[in-house]
Amino acid sequence: MAKRDYYEVLGVDKGADAKTMKSAFRKKAMECHPDRHPDDAGAEARFKELNEAYGILSDDQKRAAYDRMGHSAFEQGGMGGGAGFQDFGDIFSQIFGGGAAGGGFADMFGGGSGRRGQQVQRGSDLRYEMEISLEEAYAGKDIDIKVPIAEDCDRCEGIGAEPGASVETCSTCGGAGRVRTQQGFFTMERACSTCGGQGEYVSNPCTQCDGQGQARVQTELDVSIPAGVEDGTRIRLSGQGDAAPRRGSNGAGQRGDLYVFVSVKPHDLFERDGANLFCLAPVPMTVAALGGEIEIPTIDGGRSKIKIPDGSQSGKRLRLRGKGMSVLRSSQRGDMYVELGVETPSKLSKRQRELLEEFAEVSGDESSPESANFFGRAKRFWEGLVD
Ligand SMILES: [Zn+2]
Ligand SMILES: [Zn+2]
Repeated sequence: MAKRDYYEVLGVDKGADAKTMKSAFRKKAMECHPDRHPDDAGAEARFKELNEAYGILSDDQKRAAYDRMGHSAFEQGGMGGGAGFQDFGDIFSQIFGGGAAGGGFADMFGGGSGRRGQQVQRGSDLRYEMEISLEEAYAGKDIDIKVPIAEDCDRCEGIGAEPGASVETCSTCGGAGRVRTQQGFFTMERACSTCGGQGEYVSNPCTQCDGQGQARVQTELDVSIPAGVEDGTRIRLSGQGDAAPRRGSNGAGQRGDLYVFVSVKPHDLFERDGANLFCLAPVPMTVAALGGEIEIPTIDGGRSKIKIPDGSQSGKRLRLRGKGMSVLRSSQRGDMYVELGVETPSKLSKRQRELLEEFAEVSGDESSPESANFFGRAKRFWEGLVD
């Protein structure tokens, strides 16, 4: 078959400059794009011819070769070894760039020639919020949850039509669910309003699901919360989300996933930092001074005795090894830190006051070295100001 002259294909003069050719190509590409002529087998050939012509003429070197030798310049053995033009995508992206129309054009090429079918739809992912106690996070737990999950309607088997009713392909969009409109150089795509984007409509919608094809069903699921779970953990239950819609879908899609978001409630006694726990333990002044033993609750529900050394100060931290949180997927446990808070006696009785006054009389700097040290430094500070 004889090839048409490239200038003729583009519809420009032999002396046309780059800008003229570019706009000519753009105009013709719009006119003969195969997506706009789904029933015309010749459109694709014309489109290809146009791209080839522009591919050659927009390249100065190739254009010069074509001007000298015509089509023979690009036949086997000639310049470019027969691969005389760039692929469509390249030329198009050069001309039209990314821009607002980018998606539309990428689409055209992605779909290839002819009418694009509907996409296979996947079911939606679901999110379930779960709040657990710190004890549950420590021990792990199997929890039953109830989730409304979309399933195929059992009356219409997901089709959305009453038994016996017909499902017709939408004539406006040809079943694609989307229609294109052209504004200037840009092609826009939007959901088809005739069928609501479904690509089909039903003569008599299913009475049970209102033609939706799906309904939410309360479903009980068993979620296994692992010991050591952190606040904010996301647990994925693969394929436990919504069923894939069958209406407007081209084939059987996958179910969505169910994500359980775990949050751990703050605890009355313990504060958590990763695998470790902190507990603030108030200690009466006399115990802190004389030493003694206190009993501390632990996260596993048990209790631990800890020795308070005599002369303990507020803020002193004692470590209980292995009494912290469990560690995810491990048999290890973190530690628990007990911070002492020395409690100064208040609401003293007359007798208590007498005893403390007597105690103060016999006390010197040695029994409260920190205070003595502080006032010593303060004294030096004031003396320094005088100089
Ligand atoms: Zn139904
Ligand atoms: Zn439609």
